[in-house]
Parts: sequence; C-alpha cells; structure tokens
Amino acid sequence: MGARKSYKAGNSYKDYKIATIGSHSALQILYGAKQEGFSTIAICEKGREQPYKNYKVADRIITVGRFKDTIKLQQQLVGEKAILIPHGTFFEAFGTEDIQKLKVPYFGNKGILKWEADRMMQREWLKRSGLTLPKIYEKPENIDGPVIVKFYGARGGKGFFLARNAGEFYRKIKERKAKEDVRAYILQEYIIGAPIYIHYFHSPLTNELEVMSFDKRYESNVDSIGRIAAKDQLDLGLETSYNITGNVPVVVRESLLPEIFRMGEAVVKASKTLDGDGKGIFGPFSLETVITPDLKFFVFEISARIVAGTNLYMNGSPYTELRYKEPMSTGRRIAREIKAAIERNELKKILD
Ligand code: ATP
Repeated sequence: MGARKSYKAGNSYKDYKIATIGSHSALQILYGAKQEGFSTIAICEKGREQPYKNYKVADRIITVGRFKDTIKLQQQLVGEKAILIPHGTFFEAFGTEDIQKLKVPYFGNKGILKWEADRMMQREWLKRSGLTLPKIYEKPENIDGPVIVKFYGARGGKGFFLARNAGEFYRKIKERKAKEDVRAYILQEYIIGAPIYIHYFHSPLTNELEVMSFDKRYESNVDSIGRIAAKDQLDLGLETSYNITGNVPVVVRESLLPEIFRMGEAVVKASKTLDGDGKGIFGPFSLETVITPDLKFFVFEISARIVAGTNLYMNGSPYTELRYKEPMSTGRRIAREIKAAIERNELKKILD
C-alpha cells in the first residue's frame, strides 16, 4: 500500500490535472477528463505522441524514452497536482511493486493489485465472491475434458492452446518448446459458450455499482477459423490461438442483467475482505466471462482497472445513456468521480 497523502480542503478541481501514459485507453481517459473540465497531461514514448496531438486530448505532452521514465518526472507531476490514471500498459510498464512506490497521487487502490496479478490469489478473490469459475487441473495427467493451457505473463492470450488429455498436452507443449521459451502455465477447464467481458464502475463515494458496457474480443486466429470449412481446417492442421487484435460491442440479453449486477456487487464486497484497510476495489474493473448454453456465467478472470474494450464507448454505451443521458465513457466516469471527490473534500477515499 502506498503512503497515505493528505489533501487540503477547499481546492477546486481546476487546480488538478489528469495524467496518464500514452497507450491502451489514454485517448478515452484524457478525452473524458477534458469533458469534465480538467487539464490533461499525456506522457508519451518518443515517436508515439502523434495520436495524442492529433486528437487534441492532451493539454500537454511530456515525451520520455520509456514509459518507466515517468518515475523521473514524479516531482514535477506532484508539483502540478497531477493525478495518475492507471491502465493496462501502465501496469506492464511499472509492475505491481514499482507502482507501490509511486509518489504521484494514483486513482485506485494499490493494495488490490497483488490480488489481480497472481492467478491463484485472483482465484481466491473470485471464489470468495461466490462466482462460478472454470476448474483448474493440478497436473496434465488429471485432464478429463477440454482444457485451455495459459502461460503466465502471456500478453492478450498469445500462445494459449487447447488440449483434451495428457498425451495431447505433452505433444503440443513439446512442439512449442522448440519454438519459444515455455514459462509456467495453468491448465484451466475450457468452457464452451459465448465470451462476454463486463465493464463495471464502483463508486466509493456513493457506494454504488454501475454496469457501464460490454464487449467481446476479436482474436487472431480463433475468430477467423470459422471462415474455413471444417475439412480444410483439418487438412491445414490449424491450431487456435487467442492473440487479441480488437474489441467488438455487445449488448446482453436483458434478463441476464440482474445476475451481472449481482456478480459485480459480490466482487466489490469480497474485495473489502482482501487487504487490511477494507477499501476494496473501486473505479473501473472488468469480469471476463463465458456464458454457457444454459445461461450460466463462468468467470475466468478479473481486471482490476479500465479495460481496452471500454474504448468502444468513447461516446457512451446504451447502458450509460440510461443512467446519465449524456455521453459517459468509463474515462469520463473516472474524471467525474475525481471531480466529485474534490468537491466533497474526499480525495483520500479514491487516491493512493
Ligand atoms: P488478458 O490478460 O489480456 O485478459 P490473457 O492473456 O489473460 O488476456 P485470457 O483473457 O485469460 O488471456 O484468455 C484469452 C482468450 O481465451 C479469451 O478469448 C477467452 O475468451 C478465452 N478463454 C480464456 N479462458 C477460457 C476458458 N476457461 N474457457 C473458454 N475460453 C477461455
């Protein structure tokens, strides 16, 4: 947990700046911050500034050699009253340990990060939430149905493969070892159904959970294999892979919504039992699920942060339309929460 900082009363949100590193969902985060009236800072790697200039979402662009060099800018950012908004690339650049040491005010609960980063701790969190999870097999010999083999540290499902028994697992892992360094993996039950990613936002100010939107992923090559006849798939000896290339919008069958709210609320409640201060998870997070033909949700992962699937809804989603009646992206929702916390003098509830 980062050192607690104190925030003076009587500040206007205009005194603060919203900053993030230029990748992942930064366009949405910075645009949303500007919609709420904040000044914005994009920290970009050299040569990657163009989108942030061109789309005019950053009042200031700071160029660094590598994202990690943001550490060297800390004093300057603290001086400017910048608030850092984390996202996927942010976590990749810093790692959970270095994030704990950041001195710039950070939107979110750093204490929760280790519960997301470690697959077994994450499983414990989801189990405490009472969600249904795919089975995990301790060793290949125990495999008694389809499994997805997931490598630790794989980015966006790269290199994952399917197996139906120990023999198939050993054959495929051997083929891969020849090509790449095979790291530790988990053997997870493969759930056949419709993958749906749920985008939530939890406000610690109002203690309310919001369902912002949904997406499904567009992955290479798994999403194109259906375009090839089954016979050709076999003749070509195709293997599936799950490398993410984009996101596709989804609205869910309306009768699924009560369960979707229930799952999100259970995750928030359980998160308050995870770390010492009981703050739990707040801000944006996502449950990655597969819905089976009998309409049961299996949750295979939680992302304790804004996910890139929310980029679909820069201008709001059908669900945020119902609640806000104005364009409300997840990025803008973050800025609105920060603004409300400043106005209520409750910044310490949402910054770490
Ligand atoms: P990220 O961290 O970016 O979410 P990842 O590398 O952890 O990605 P996953 O999201 O776990 O990868 O999985 C990649 C793909 O595999 C997704 O399309 C997902 O739908 C599918 N998948 C993952 N686990 C299962 C499962 N247990 N059953 C069925 N499909 C799964």
